[in-house]
Amino acid sequence: MKVLLTSTSFQDCDGLHKELLNQQKWEVSYLRGPLKKSEIIGEVANYDALICGDDVLDRDVLEKGARGSLKFISKYGVGLDKIDLVAAKELGIPVTNCPGVNQIAVAEHVIAMIFSFFKNIHLSHEITSLGGWKRPLGNELFGRKIGIIGLGAIGKELAKRTPFLGIETFVYDVNLDYDFLDGRELKVLTSVEEIFKTCDIVTLHVPLLESTQGIVSKEILFDCKPGLVLVNTSRAGLVYEPDILEALRLNRLGGYLTDVLANEPMGSNCVLKNQPGVLITPHVGSRTRETIERQGTMAVQNLIHLIKAR
Ligand code: NAD
Repeated sequence: MKVLLTSTSFQDCDGLHKELLNQQKWEVSYLRGPLKKSEIIGEVANYDALICGDDVLDRDVLEKGARGSLKFISKYGVGLDKIDLVAAKELGIPVTNCPGVNQIAVAEHVIAMIFSFFKNIHLSHEITSLGGWKRPLGNELFGRKIGIIGLGAIGKELAKRTPFLGIETFVYDVNLDYDFLDGRELKVLTSVEEIFKTCDIVTLHVPLLESTQGIVSKEILFDCKPGLVLVNTSRAGLVYEPDILEALRLNRLGGYLTDVLANEPMGSNCVLKNQPGVLITPHVGSRTRETIERQGTMAVQNLIHLIKAR
């Protein structure tokens, strides 16, 4: 069984996931993803299975793989938006992912980004790193309103925590889990527009689908509560980055805190790079030791199950 593994966090962190992988009698090759189409298309046919990250696995790549040896795909992670699932199904290539293992890490990352931004931790660190002692003015989170769009695994972990920080918490989901709401201090709103008009902070936790692509439209951005801070740890395709920049420049938005970019890794031409009010982390929301071990173990177990089921 020839396996191509492209996740850098899997490769770079030791733990049970590597031990489990090494126990398998697989011939494993490593590339450092996320791989562009041009980087994976020439490789994919040589392997029976992929343990992939956010590599581009579109129809062309999958067809090329299927004409060769490719039989299984185990996604290390949750989001499947880079994989053409329709093509995979047609080609008889089963695809698995790792739900339920990284939601705490991402929810904590959202809270860390918000606190850093409101307290100017990132700017203060920059000042003292350069030997300075200029003291930026911070803002309190207490009493602010946060809107969580997408109350799934990550949204729920966040919604469990923010009320205890004194942050009034609003939620919106097309498929609300009413059992989860029961007994919690959460207020339900009924549209994305309403969330953006009501809240001081909005955080996105919907997957990137055809129905959610550009869910934060220009109209919504320009009609939001003035100074709103938008947090995106989900996918860049939920917004249009040039609109974000314009809304920041016109002071409609007070900040854009993001873990995801339209082009990753960030290029020198990224419109958000070094812009005032923008805080960027390099897609590390779920990159904790604990998550990598859980997610890596699950990705290997998923592949073991796929092979057994065949
Ligand atoms: P999930 O599937 O558990 O939850 C998604 C929620 O979004 C569901 O409750 C669903 O009903 C809701 N939803 C779908 N379409 C909607 C719409 N149009 N309007 C409102 N709600 C809608 O997913 P999750 O585990 O919470 O992850 C969410 C996303 O976060 C993933 O799809 C992935 O893209 C991203 N993610 C990022 C990182 C990171 O490292 N930054 C890590 C994990 C996941």
